[in-house]
Amino acid sequence: MTVAMELRGVSRVYGSGAGEVHALRHVDMSVRAGELVAVMGPSGSGKSTLLTIAGSLEEPSSGEVLVGGSSLRSMSANERARLRRRAIGYVFQDFNLLAGLTAVENVALPLELDGVGPKAAREVGLAVLEELGLAGQARRYPDELSGGERQRIAIARAIVGDRRLVLADEPTGALDSVNGEAVMRLLRTACKRGVAGVVVTHDAQLASWADRIVFLRDGRVVDQTSQPVGPESLLTDGTSR
Ligand code: ADP
Repeated sequence: MTVAMELRGVSRVYGSGAGEVHALRHVDMSVRAGELVAVMGPSGSGKSTLLTIAGSLEEPSSGEVLVGGSSLRSMSANERARLRRRAIGYVFQDFNLLAGLTAVENVALPLELDGVGPKAAREVGLAVLEELGLAGQARRYPDELSGGERQRIAIARAIVGDRRLVLADEPTGALDSVNGEAVMRLLRTACKRGVAGVVVTHDAQLASWADRIVFLRDGRVVDQTSQPVGPESLLTDGTSR
């Protein structure tokens, strides 16, 4: 499978002198198309910094970031902006849906912002909602949806169009465990379409929905599971819970 996103020796330092903070230290990480990787670690270990750098929202102090095989450093500012608009989807803890738009309008919005006509954008939006089993919510407004439903719509919005990489920062943080599981399951479904996903979570049980878990501490990758964990491994053997 092709590598969708790669960090090579990525470091990020904030501040200078005595106030210097090493948010990331020489992080190497790659995520293949179709793979869902969970990132875990204590607060302040660099998880959000890793996501913002992988998503080209921030630059590393040193090291290299490749998305779809292309180094972000070799791109112009316009090319990076286009990549953020077309190839990368972001999911945040607080959903960020626009209250005045229906679910399908929210999902179609990134396409419209990218110049796709409203009708075509809506059709693609509906198709994604259908694929993810969310068609029933298409015409509802965010305040008519539960928190879990809103987050699932936000995931649909993050993968609409030709997205190769989805980055989710604590997308289950505001949800109960049932809704949290539904969100992880949906991220997994999204990845099965060939999208690469990176999801930050504090919850080991939810992280087990990922193919791999990367553990951060003090800005370093300190461990990672070498093979798929899979929720099935938790479900098949009741005693392992
Ligand atoms: P996590 O997401 O694991 O909680 P972060 O990536 O948010 O960790 O932060 C890693 C470290 O970098 C922390 O010590 C944090 O205080 C620091 N940090 C993050 N962003 C900034 C910033 N914009 N300016 C200064 N320090 C920052």
